[in-house]
Amino acid sequence: MKMATYSVLSGSVALITLQNPPVNALSEAVRTGITDAVQRTLKDPQVTSVVICGQNGRFCGGADIREFAGPMSGPPLVPMIHALEAMEKPVVAAIEGLALGGGLELALGCHYRIAHSQALLGLPEVTLGLLPAAGGSQRLPRLIGLPAALDLITTGRHISASEALKLGIVDQVTDDNALKMAVEFARSVVGQPLGPRRLSTRPCHSPPDVDSVLDQALAQVWQRGRGALAPVACVGALRAAATLPYAQGMEKERELMATLFNSGQARALQYAFFSQRVVGKWQPSGARWDNSTTRTIRKAAVIGLGTMGRGIVVALALAGVSVVAVESQEKQLAAARQMVPEMLQRGAGRRGLDTPPGVISFSSGLEDVSEVELVIEAVFEDMALKRRIFSRLATVCRPGTVLCSNTSGLDIDQLAEATQNPALVVGMHFFAPAHVMKLLEVVCGPRSSPEAVATAMVLGKRMGKVSVAVGNCPGFVGNRMLKPYMEQANFLLEEGATPQQVDEALEGFGFPMGVFRMSDLSGLDVGWRVRKEAGLTEQGVEPTRMRQGQRYSPLPDQMCEGGRLGQKTGRGWYRYDGPGGRVARSDPWVQNFLETYRARHGLVPRRIATEEILERCLYALTNEGFNILQDGVAAGPEDIDVIYVFGYGWPRHRGGPMFHAGQVGLARVLEKLEHYQHSHPDVPHLKPSSLLRRLVAAGSPPVQKWREFISKDRVHS
Ligand code: NAD
Repeated sequence: MKMATYSVLSGSVALITLQNPPVNALSEAVRTGITDAVQRTLKDPQVTSVVICGQNGRFCGGADIREFAGPMSGPPLVPMIHALEAMEKPVVAAIEGLALGGGLELALGCHYRIAHSQALLGLPEVTLGLLPAAGGSQRLPRLIGLPAALDLITTGRHISASEALKLGIVDQVTDDNALKMAVEFARSVVGQPLGPRRLSTRPCHSPPDVDSVLDQALAQVWQRGRGALAPVACVGALRAAATLPYAQGMEKERELMATLFNSGQARALQYAFFSQRVVGKWQPSGARWDNSTTRTIRKAAVIGLGTMGRGIVVALALAGVSVVAVESQEKQLAAARQMVPEMLQRGAGRRGLDTPPGVISFSSGLEDVSEVELVIEAVFEDMALKRRIFSRLATVCRPGTVLCSNTSGLDIDQLAEATQNPALVVGMHFFAPAHVMKLLEVVCGPRSSPEAVATAMVLGKRMGKVSVAVGNCPGFVGNRMLKPYMEQANFLLEEGATPQQVDEALEGFGFPMGVFRMSDLSGLDVGWRVRKEAGLTEQGVEPTRMRQGQRYSPLPDQMCEGGRLGQKTGRGWYRYDGPGGRVARSDPWVQNFLETYRARHGLVPRRIATEEILERCLYALTNEGFNILQDGVAAGPEDIDVIYVFGYGWPRHRGGPMFHAGQVGLARVLEKLEHYQHSHPDVPHLKPSSLLRRLVAAGSPPVQKWREFISKDRVHS
């Protein structure tokens, strides 16, 4: 039963217990329960103090987000918290487990707060595109001062009970039973004046240079937020707290919340939050990995200690896995021996650990991996080399060892063929730097067993990754969609755009880096190698700007041939101070190179509007997303969106490419793709996906309904 119960302890302490598993969210029934309990407390002359707690060791996780979808019913939160605060009997919050969002706002309405040492507190509304609008933005700065409140509210970060104590959010912290302590505390403060404990009546202590503090905070959230509205609104609400009386501040908080609540960004961020929960349900060959038995991996091996391998070793060790780290080149092995312990120490420090939990041993030969339970191969992107390694691993490792590849897009099934037990082969596609980036694509080959997939998924989770199960096709999900996106960017250069112009358009949309700056960072040779392997860099008898019957831009190949590999060579689409330099400057050489190229191929440059840049790059990418859904390579649009938000810098406040297409309107995306396909008939990636057409024909159902639509569609076709 979801509610808040009322009881009286030893005749004088009223206990209000929130009951709404799993986190005692403030649903309508819980709010009704609290409101009723407050009334009973007021009427009961025996009761001299009140304690509020949550069932099952969790105070309260905040508002019930599921209620956001419909009209609000039941007692609203703001007057309920005011009624608590106005009580003439002391009210103590017993914070165990968590007090987040509305949960912390409820606690701020209490006169005292006692927390368990393991509790987490925070106002994470900003991460859902909102602000703490049950008085949180007005009470918190009155309690802890403006600068600390700005930090907590604009980042939404969770803090520990000990930090909360230091900041003054809680009055006491205990390692023992917080509820028992709160009850004793409540008894001990009966009769003490409550006026000073009511945060709404306190002044907001602001620094003397309040305007410059707020302006600085605003500049920071603009830069960090990349177009996100909520952090800006949070600063607005805190400005009101610092400069206006409480009642006017509350009015401002309400107004700002109303604007955010109805914005597409809040919907996108809430969708992103729920998507993270539903991803990874892809079911290889009808068998389900998500209800299969998994093996707990205690010992693993990583083969190849280059950029990726080193990060994977660190991520495994931080997850408590013992690692055998293998590298065949002496120089690389020596570099890894030096770098990995340093990276590990830093990683452990970030997690507050003195020593990393996993042990690492280094080796130059595959024979040392015979005792491990799982191997992750991270050698060069070369099918023949990888197949040789997989065939060797199959003989060296014990039967039953799960064999994984970190390939960026090669066929997992071809690797599986090189072993005796293809069911044990899966892809584990990490993103650089592998110990930092949150995304992991777990690639299910047609013969991968549900157990092997489940083992990789669970291991990924242990490593702190967001694991998404995807199907096996060139580039899997993320890189397959990136191809048409990058292709459009290159075509735009041919037609008259500059790298800066394209990057600025994409960064204006909210990507942390445009396509060319990103290419320079990861190295132009990465894609060059893939194109070489696919036979695309050889011109043959076709015209220079055609390959395999399709439009092709040789621009990036020519850059690589000229040694312009990006930051590592100090020259790429931009100019850097030297090899390894990070500050990108526009390069007249590139300008000249593009002009010469256009002249040689008879291309007349034109002015290209930002709108066209965005539409061509983003809709080409999204269109491939529809093809992926149609092919069943991703389980649903949520999977694609999570991959793009966590692995490719898609701005979270825009939900992800598939969600964004829904917000723009599927009919409009289709119309634009048709328009661009008409002007570029030799670019197959602009041909609208038939799934997109069918969705439009079905009246453009919301993104949450696509999964169902696709499965019905599949049955009928
Ligand atoms: P890298 O060139 O930095 O490192 C590869 C390492 O493998 C080298 O140190 C090399 O000496 C070693 N190696 C080669 N043959 C070996 C063998 N037989 N035994 C042991 N070690 C051997 O490459 P990288 O960027 O780390 O990429 C590795 C893999 O990860 C590739 O498949 C790549 O496509 C994939 N990947 C790369 C990125 C990225 O951003 N760099 C991202 C995701 C996936």
